[in-house]
Amino acid sequence: MLNFDTIIGARDAIRLKKISAVELTQQAIARIEAVDGRVRAFNSTCAQRALEQARLVDQGRRGGELAGVPIAVKDNLCTTFGTTTCSSKMLENFHSPYDATVIQKLESAGAVIVGKTNLDEFAMGSSTENSAFGSTRNPWNLNCVPGGSSGGSAAALASGACCGSIGSDTGGSIRQPAALCGVVGLKPTYGRISRYGLVAFASSLDQIGPFGWTVGDAALLLKVMSGHDPKDSTSVPHPVPDYPAEIDRPIKGLRIGVAKEFELTAGMDPHVSSAVDEAMKVYQRMGAQRVDVSLPHTEYGIAAYYVIAPCEASSNLARYDGIHYGHRTKKPVNDIIDLVSHSRAEGFGDEVKRRIMIGTYALSSGYYDAYYVRALQVRTLIKRDFDQAFNQCDVILSATSPTAAFAAGEKTADPLQMYLCDVFTVTCNIAGIAGISLPCGFTPGDQPLPIGLQLLGPTFGEETLLRAARMYESATDWHQRRPALK
Ligand code: GLN
Repeated sequence: MLNFDTIIGARDAIRLKKISAVELTQQAIARIEAVDGRVRAFNSTCAQRALEQARLVDQGRRGGELAGVPIAVKDNLCTTFGTTTCSSKMLENFHSPYDATVIQKLESAGAVIVGKTNLDEFAMGSSTENSAFGSTRNPWNLNCVPGGSSGGSAAALASGACCGSIGSDTGGSIRQPAALCGVVGLKPTYGRISRYGLVAFASSLDQIGPFGWTVGDAALLLKVMSGHDPKDSTSVPHPVPDYPAEIDRPIKGLRIGVAKEFELTAGMDPHVSSAVDEAMKVYQRMGAQRVDVSLPHTEYGIAAYYVIAPCEASSNLARYDGIHYGHRTKKPVNDIIDLVSHSRAEGFGDEVKRRIMIGTYALSSGYYDAYYVRALQVRTLIKRDFDQAFNQCDVILSATSPTAAFAAGEKTADPLQMYLCDVFTVTCNIAGIAGISLPCGFTPGDQPLPIGLQLLGPTFGEETLLRAARMYESATDWHQRRPALK
């Protein structure tokens, strides 16, 4: 185990020389060796490089706000070291010629990257079972999934292999695995963090964001990664607030929106509902006010998302043809059509193929207006719902996921069931707003599983969101629990 397992704890311990960066990195590597054969959070590790980076910190030649802190990054973020596979056969041997902007920023802040984490292939999924390299398991119960698609990043943190990690969230892929693994996960506002070097899934929805054990850790990673980047025209030039500085300041008279549309009954685990209700009471005891808000188009969220995301994916993934990028078939081929179709048939897994087919169909002439344009119209309505709701409240509270972690294999045969994991998370991406998930309880029984609370905030409302999340965290101790994994 790590002697200091939170980002701020590790950073301070290194600064005060209670532990050296090299020692902490060695502990992370030892922990990966001890548990990752079972958790399988990592696609690849970079122990030697990490130790060298840590040594430079100890020698005073690398510094910054994350100096010496072990961090894991999702394997859809381009790094010049190791491979960037997106957990796909298509990119199994891909070596990126450049680093993603977030990788540069993390490393300039002194972070020690220990490895690249598993994901659902090209970030499509909610369980990290759609990986070409084997599924990741939940550190709280190895028979369960960690959520997805950033399940590797959430599980790496929860298993004690790093102090923080990075994921991407297109429809819930940071918040849902954070909920299922009992950690904090933040999806920033669209445009807050540069996506240069993030392998694109659905470009109008994708955002990069942090995982940490605490709200403060997430705030620090957010601060380090945020800001405008000329290499990503969707990143905005808004100034980056000092997120961690403000989080301990409670919000007087916090108005918490509760939408009846988020109180889904079918498919909702009653333990999740009661944990979320209890969280509302905790806020009320702290002086927060409950406001009933209405998000009437929420029920179309999943349908709109599962048109928009596959449409954009089918376009983004067209580049993997075995010529420009990606796996090339070794079969004898007659012509270019043969080459491309064999390469794609071999390189992509079933879920990715399903999305490409749905997207291509929905974008084809004659269907474009009925599906894609329609979904974009719904998108406007969903955005408007949030705009109106945020006139009445500061944050909106709900469950992150309708259930705690489910058993591995339970939903793999039924894509629709898997898509329904995202009911509470997709509308945030559709509207481009910010969202956070934080631990708010556990299921009963002898192998308790974490439950996640979601707070949504308006565009660039990260400061409010983090402060509101920190209020709850300061009144509870869920964030101090750790899995018993040996
Ligand atoms: N589970 C959703 C999907 O499969 C979201 C994935 C994500 O956010 N990357 O598309």
